[in-house]
Amino acid sequence: MSLKRVRGTEDLKEESQLKHNFIVETAREAARRFYFQEISTPILEFTEIFSRTLGVESDIVNKEMFTFKDRNQEEITLRPEVTAGVARHFITEKLHQHLPLRFFYQGPSFRYERPQKGRLRQFHQVGIELLGEPSPRGDIECISLACLFFQKLGIEKELTLEINSIGDLESRTQHREALLSYLKPLKNKLSEDSQRRLKTNPLRILDSKEEQDKELIQSAPSIQDFLNKRSKTFFEDVLKGLDALNIPWKQNSLLVRGLDYYNHCVFEFKSSHEKMGSQNTVLAGGRYDRLIEIMAGEGERVYGVGWGAGIERIRFLIQDYPSFPRPIALVPLGEEAENLALKLAWQLRQEGLIVFHPRAMSNLSKKMKRASQMRAKYALIFGPEEVKNETLSIKNMDTQTQKPIPVSQALSFFKEKLSDKA
Ligand code: ATP
Ligand code: MG
Repeated sequence: MSLKRVRGTEDLKEESQLKHNFIVETAREAARRFYFQEISTPILEFTEIFSRTLGVESDIVNKEMFTFKDRNQEEITLRPEVTAGVARHFITEKLHQHLPLRFFYQGPSFRYERPQKGRLRQFHQVGIELLGEPSPRGDIECISLACLFFQKLGIEKELTLEINSIGDLESRTQHREALLSYLKPLKNKLSEDSQRRLKTNPLRILDSKEEQDKELIQSAPSIQDFLNKRSKTFFEDVLKGLDALNIPWKQNSLLVRGLDYYNHCVFEFKSSHEKMGSQNTVLAGGRYDRLIEIMAGEGERVYGVGWGAGIERIRFLIQDYPSFPRPIALVPLGEEAENLALKLAWQLRQEGLIVFHPRAMSNLSKKMKRASQMRAKYALIFGPEEVKNETLSIKNMDTQTQKPIPVSQALSFFKEKLSDKA
């Protein structure tokens, strides 16, 4: 039997779990301010949901999916990303008449990648999808939501927004031809993957992380020179909108999305912090006006724009995060006191207080030591004598002062403390 963790997965606890929770809660709150409502789609979807939309030639479908046949011989895939699931939901629930729609999601995705710093096989994302919004204002709103999220995490200064336009289909077709004329003579110098992409998806070559490709890409024809009027105007409007909100951006004409359904604006938030290593994109997004059409195979266009952010990568940047709240420690001594403690703990917890009851410890000093390890704010100490007199000793762990209090008043004492805080 193997008791190892599966490669590329991790156990979260304490600091990593608290940071994870902080990121999810902060994203949820930022999304709420923009009236994006939370959706949870299944982790299991039929494989076709992804192969149809991401394209059989994409890296994800080609080599990164966790796919298996279930007992009924159905082809199932652990979702490698969430957008396709949200689009599937939109189509199956026939939500056209409810547009525009704003979704927020959080949860795990799975990709069979080579695990390294910032790259896992089970990773977690928060993300948003705005459906039914054709105007650049949709892009601006999504990007500003990302900014608010990073502000609230206190890491906005560590990140740079890079933005580009890949234009509409017409602009891209023109650019593709120029790109092919430039790259074809250089074919033998390209990486193996990029040689294959030359046939399937040349735009994606611009996104290559292989050193040998990077150099050639620098002098490749830029998509910016092929944007038609409509695409140009769209992009300029997004940039103007960001300026109006004082959101700094940097244009990166090599930024692309290799998937067919993306168009116009694409963007990423990157960190240049050394602790990120080469996995420095924490959030990636763009406009995907053709996704739902492609997935449904028919029907009206449903404009879409959204982003997904990797929680594990954001975790590297988080310094300050809320710690687990400080408890009240119960320190009963003897059988009867233990029984009273159970009852008292139940009452206090029902009132909303956090109560820690270090039962397995045998004597007073061990229990008190445990209480300070757990960062208790107060300790309630009571032995047989106190039970008889119906009093407790209440110790403020910060000031180390102790005073007696009748059992009947303990509840109201802490209730007051609770309302002090509010
Ligand atoms: P990369 O270029 O790093 O492979 P990607 O283009 O595959 O990223 P997206 O599909 O756009 O990534 O996912 C959005 C975000 O999710 C990424 O920017 C990253 O923060 C995170 N992410 C993607 N794949 C992983 C992974 N395997 N492990 C951890 N985080 C990931
Ligand atoms: Mg990837």
